[in-house]
Amino acid sequence: MAASSFHPFPRLPTELRLQIWIGACVFDQPDDYGIHYIDVEPSFTQGIPSPSCTLIARLADGDKNSACLRDGGLWTACKESRDIMIRYSSVGGRDFVRINIRGNGKDWHSPVHPTHDIFCIKSKTWNSPDNHSEGWQIQIPDLNAQGLRTTNIRHIAFEFDESWNKDLPKCYYDLMSETSARGFLSRLLYNRFLNNSTTPQIWIIVKNGQWTVDLHQPGPTTSLNDYDTNYVPVSSYFSCRHCRRTHDFDGVFQSVRSFTYDLGDLGVACEKDHRNYKPTYDDVGDWGFEEQFNIASDLEFLAHRDMQIDLCTGRGPDEDEEDSDDFDLGF
Ligand SMILES: [Zn+2]
Ligand SMILES: [Zn+2]
Repeated sequence: MAASSFHPFPRLPTELRLQIWIGACVFDQPDDYGIHYIDVEPSFTQGIPSPSCTLIARLADGDKNSACLRDGGLWTACKESRDIMIRYSSVGGRDFVRINIRGNGKDWHSPVHPTHDIFCIKSKTWNSPDNHSEGWQIQIPDLNAQGLRTTNIRHIAFEFDESWNKDLPKCYYDLMSETSARGFLSRLLYNRFLNNSTTPQIWIIVKNGQWTVDLHQPGPTTSLNDYDTNYVPVSSYFSCRHCRRTHDFDGVFQSVRSFTYDLGDLGVACEKDHRNYKPTYDDVGDWGFEEQFNIASDLEFLAHRDMQIDLCTGRGPDEDEEDSDDFDLGF
């Protein structure tokens, strides 16, 4: 029932009204991380393209899936509910900024946490700065602050699409020139590499891929939510001790791995662009022991929690003669 249709509501005692507002609010749990969908544009100063390396974030047009939209009713219902939200939405004691949300006729603001929430880029233009002289910063305007202040976003995401593997350019620089999600991703990785940046951390959200827990890795502990879906950090590679092989399930994560391997392969050509680059003998042949440069090595992955597949049970292919579960192959 909409608050506006419950006519006796204003006649309830204030205390009771406040309890109802608080009860209706989806407050952050301290371990909850929000996922928001944003568009970004390189920042400009006074109409002149600045040599800046900053991108300004705003909520993606028409977005209905961001976590920050969840309490929309309470932020917009009336002054009383809004006051409650202002008081309780910082309940975790974390830094937050207000992101602007376009309402019907009237904008409103919802708190987001720039340093721990994940901001998934869904851009119309996929514009980025041309300048790689500094590490790019993706910033969110802080509407709490008086005057203009921006805060850096620490976690950026891209939503994986299997079309990323289609007609992938044979050269990293051609990929970087694309106005596409994978083009933007390749430029951001290139910029991070040239500037030895570790931020923003880049996540790939795999919305429709089956996954399982890797027994060699600690299971997911963090919970991430957009408007109505729960995601968990996963490995992109599911090695099964039981079957002694990797699992691909529906093949979506196989497609993710195929893309990241190709990205790494293409990115080898960029290694020489780094100011500290020194050729080594290992670059001459493939027999070198040094680990090959990989521009995409620190990508992290998120999967839809409901797409989890149970761990294998029953007899594995090597278990016909003996139960060898405890035998460790040593890798
Ligand atoms: Zn298995
Ligand atoms: Zn077994």
